[in-house]
Amino acid sequence: MFDYLIVGAGFAGSVLAERLANASDKKVLICDKRNHIGGNAYDHYNEHGVLVHKYGPHIFHTNSREVFDYLSRFTQWRPYEHRVQASVDGQLVPMPINLDTINKLYGLNLTSFQLEEFFKSVAEPREHLRTSEDVVVSRVGRDLYEKFFRNYTRKQWALDPSELDASVTSRVPVRTNRDDRYFTDTYQAMPLHGYTRMFERMLDSPNIKIALNCDYQEIADEFAYREMIYTGPVDAFFDYCYGELPYRSLEFKHETHNVAQFQPAPVVNFPNEHAYTRVTEFKYLTGQEHQKTSIVYEYPQAEGDPYYPVPRKENADIYTKYKALADATSDVHFVGRLATYKYYNMDQIVAQALTTYAKMRGEKRAAAAVAAAAAAGAAFNVGGNGNRNDNGHGKHTRELLSSAR
Ligand SMILES: Cc1cc2nc3c(=O)[nH]c(=O)nc-3n(C[C@H](O)[C@H](O)[C@H](O)COP(=O)(O)OP(=O)(O)OC[C@H]3O[C@@H](n4cnc5c(N)ncnc54)[C@H](O)[C@@H]3O)c2cc1C
Repeated sequence: MFDYLIVGAGFAGSVLAERLANASDKKVLICDKRNHIGGNAYDHYNEHGVLVHKYGPHIFHTNSREVFDYLSRFTQWRPYEHRVQASVDGQLVPMPINLDTINKLYGLNLTSFQLEEFFKSVAEPREHLRTSEDVVVSRVGRDLYEKFFRNYTRKQWALDPSELDASVTSRVPVRTNRDDRYFTDTYQAMPLHGYTRMFERMLDSPNIKIALNCDYQEIADEFAYREMIYTGPVDAFFDYCYGELPYRSLEFKHETHNVAQFQPAPVVNFPNEHAYTRVTEFKYLTGQEHQKTSIVYEYPQAEGDPYYPVPRKENADIYTKYKALADATSDVHFVGRLATYKYYNMDQIVAQALTTYAKMRGEKRAAAAVAAAAAAGAAFNVGGNGNRNDNGHGKHTRELLSSAR
């Protein structure tokens, strides 16, 4: 008899399995329909011996000390500050837009102060910020909107920014200084030996049994358990009784090249040319030294694995109905990005899982503390392509339009 059946061995399921097994001495069966643990953060050495992220680049960053300290029990870290360049008008410029981006793009020599004036001079004020287009154009004007945001959004979402709600891009990620880091969180680091190794250590407990290649429906009747923790899609759990919740998916095209370095930055975004949105070169992220290098192209598409919830009001309305069902299902805990139909970064999911665990133990105060830390550092915000960024003012940005992550 297991105390818990945990569906999904990503961050949500694995953190809860680890806590329940090691801190509460519970017997846990964790299953995943994929053939590996780690969920979307899974990494592996490819046939050339290069460490790659199967489901696209996963960069760890957080402001939550609790989350960082918790994960540090299972991994050492490699300091890593992420940088992105965008290919615009035939040149590569820093992304998010900063002082160097504008000076390079327009052949100017502005100071930070002058840049703020520049933005004011090109901005097109809007009385009401209804759409994502309104948000961007009213901050940086039409030309930068066209160069960096419009087509990227269309590729990413198959929707024009004018069709996406303003809440999707509550703040445009622009900086007037020269800071070219993609994130400004307090903790920015990659697991020294990769994510999968970290997950292996989390799940390494005599109280945890792992079943891979295994949909929970195949085993739910075979094994006795007291409660379930479900981290799969909430609509699937309820047999799509209110219809399917729409997701945007991605196709990942992995390649290995016989050169030490493929491109001048960890990620290059292509807002305007090509069908793919960005190219990632993994060795920058992992620090691995190898004579070859592996990259991945990301092609947004409608069909495929569920990656990004589509942030539109009608979808939120459907989710609200599923949530009511989930809330009424008392012996199942719904945790993680698929079960709550929300884009979360990894640190936010860790915080959510720790909060859930604390609540399950009735530790209201601890739960509140973790939640507060997560909110301070990770602000459970949801952005169109799921990207979160910090514009350098200590607030998080829903950066959906210009860069995928
Ligand atoms: C392209 C991309 C890039 C990202 N980059 C970053 C990044 O740079 N930094 C960052 O912080 N976050 C990033 N994220 C977000 C990150 O992937 C998530 O925060 C994290 O994976 C969520 O963990 P989870 O456990 O909720 O879900 P998942 O990792 O998706 O795990 C859920 C698991 O449940 C399993 N499952 C589903 N249904 C069933 C079933 N019926 N039976 C058995 N198993 C089932 C799935 O196979 C899956 O393994 C990125 C996401 C994407 C899509």
